[in-house]
Amino acid sequence: MFIVFARIEDDKNITGFIFEKDQVEGLTLNPEETKLGIRSSSTRQVFYNKVKVHKSAILGARGEGFKIAMNALNVGRIKLSVAVTGAAKKAINYAVGYANERKQFKVPIASFGAIQYKLAEMATKTYVADAGNYRAGQNIEDHIARLENEGLSPQEAKLKGVEEYAIECAILKVFGSEVIQYATDEAVQIYGGMGFSAESAVEAFYRDARISRIYEGTNEINRLLLVKMILKKAMTGEIDMMTPAKSVVKELMSIPSFNAPSDAFFAQEKSVLQNLKKTILMVAGTAAQKLGDKLATEQEVTMNIANMIIEVYMLESALLKTEKLVLKDGAEMHDEKISICLNYLHHAVEEIRKNGKEALFAILEGDEQKMLLMGLKRFTKVQAVNLKEHRRNIAKKIIEENKYCFN
Ligand SMILES: Cc1cc2nc3c(=O)[nH]c(=O)nc-3n(C[C@H](O)[C@H](O)[C@H](O)COP(=O)(O)OP(=O)(O)OC[C@H]3O[C@@H](n4cnc5c(N)ncnc54)[C@H](O)[C@@H]3O)c2cc1C
Repeated sequence: MFIVFARIEDDKNITGFIFEKDQVEGLTLNPEETKLGIRSSSTRQVFYNKVKVHKSAILGARGEGFKIAMNALNVGRIKLSVAVTGAAKKAINYAVGYANERKQFKVPIASFGAIQYKLAEMATKTYVADAGNYRAGQNIEDHIARLENEGLSPQEAKLKGVEEYAIECAILKVFGSEVIQYATDEAVQIYGGMGFSAESAVEAFYRDARISRIYEGTNEINRLLLVKMILKKAMTGEIDMMTPAKSVVKELMSIPSFNAPSDAFFAQEKSVLQNLKKTILMVAGTAAQKLGDKLATEQEVTMNIANMIIEVYMLESALLKTEKLVLKDGAEMHDEKISICLNYLHHAVEEIRKNGKEALFAILEGDEQKMLLMGLKRFTKVQAVNLKEHRRNIAKKIIEENKYCFN
């Protein structure tokens, strides 16, 4: 069964077609390709030599192919993220299973801090991906239900419901695919020489993971796209970026507040999160103002902004999920998940600081640069915590349970 997008005659827009191979003439296939991974999935080059299809093969309406293709991609992106997050949990299960079994210097390698660091980082990133997937998934379902209540047909509601969260789908695709890459790479490392052997399951996990950064739109394209979509929403007034951006600049000129955050759960962390959002407004606002249309060709800066946005969305998702759990069951029940959040918070702050700095270096000079770099320092301030102990706390639980256990 083929789903193909093509232009009819001189149409401006492409049209979608759906047909079976045997229903058309002139369609030929190359042999199966030998691939790095996902070898059970068929991949062949397709050639269309003067292929004619009956008009009944039109998918949707003439000229509406782009909308169909884009919506298929949006759904595909969040689905990919969910699938790879599941695969990351599996990679952790194999890695911890091996680490508990394999002995070196007469003790299981799971007892080594270097291995515990890896397990904790794999679990942290996986938990954060999970939190983002469920958050966006619920948002999409709620929006679909709202649109249906407003009288849209289930099909229209689904299309529009997912479209509304296209930015989140792109964020999750990039994040999830990089988590699975990280998790499978570390799983191979934990297996040591055995991980390099085609006899071990993790060797295939490592190879299979690689495609996820490429298909459903490469991560470069998704990064560019998500920034473009946000800027478009800001230009059309769908979201207000200017008012908060202006108040950030005003705040930069004022004396920092020394008010301690409240002692509510995660108050400190939420205050850091707020500041990280201000960093994005500051950097993205400056980039839009200084570069204007040139931002599209200054891809390195766009990538910096995309990285910052991804970190904030993912961190916020993990904090929200954990806060909900803690308010329901108490902090003691979710001790390791709190460690995960603190671990990720520090990672996100570092990433945002690094990307913010690179972007400001690229777009500003002199006093203006100095002032915004000071702002960056102020907005990425974070209290010191013993990350080593938090990672050990996370790893201890995984090692005891012999599996990923933070669902
Ligand atoms: C195993 C497999 C299965 C697939 N399954 C499907 C499928 O079912 N349906 C389907 O439609 N497609 C499928 N694809 C195609 C897949 O989506 C594309 O390979 C992918 O989108 C990348 O496009 P490309 O290969 O043309 O790479 P290119 O577009 O040539 O990209 C090469 C490199 O350049 C970068 N690049 C390209 N354009 C830009 C730009 N404007 N700015 C900055 N960097 C850029 C890319 O990020 C990448 O790093 C599949 C591919 C594979 C390998």
